[in-house]
Amino acid sequence: MKTYTRISVHCRRCGEVKLAPEQLWLVLTDVPGHAHYGFRCPKCAVLVRSAADEKTVSSLATLVAVEEIDVPAEALEPHTGPVLTFDDLIDLVLALEADAKAAQASGAEPGDYRGQVRA
Ligand SMILES: [Zn+2]
Repeated sequence: MKTYTRISVHCRRCGEVKLAPEQLWLVLTDVPGHAHYGFRCPKCAVLVRSAADEKTVSSLATLVAVEEIDVPAEALEPHTGPVLTFDDLIDLVLALEADAKAAQASGAEPGDYRGQVRA
């Protein structure tokens, strides 16, 4: 007699959902406390990611696909200051275009500030 393992997970839209092990994956990182598991809900098709504590990791590690990733240091840096807005990006693009035009007019390469003094 064949047995089928089902894993109960929670979808924020559908509530409890039972999945086969091949419908989930576990992501382990090199940073403690950042392990998580993911699945695409079979009812609403939303991609769900949830934090996995040590007990969850040990339960899932032998049942589901496991991905190991290294978290880049930049992702762990504290983020302070105002949020970058779409207007900020537009201003940046306009400044880069103005810089490129000024450099082209002076014969220098864009971004080449050697010998230039900026106010
Ligand atoms: Zn769902």
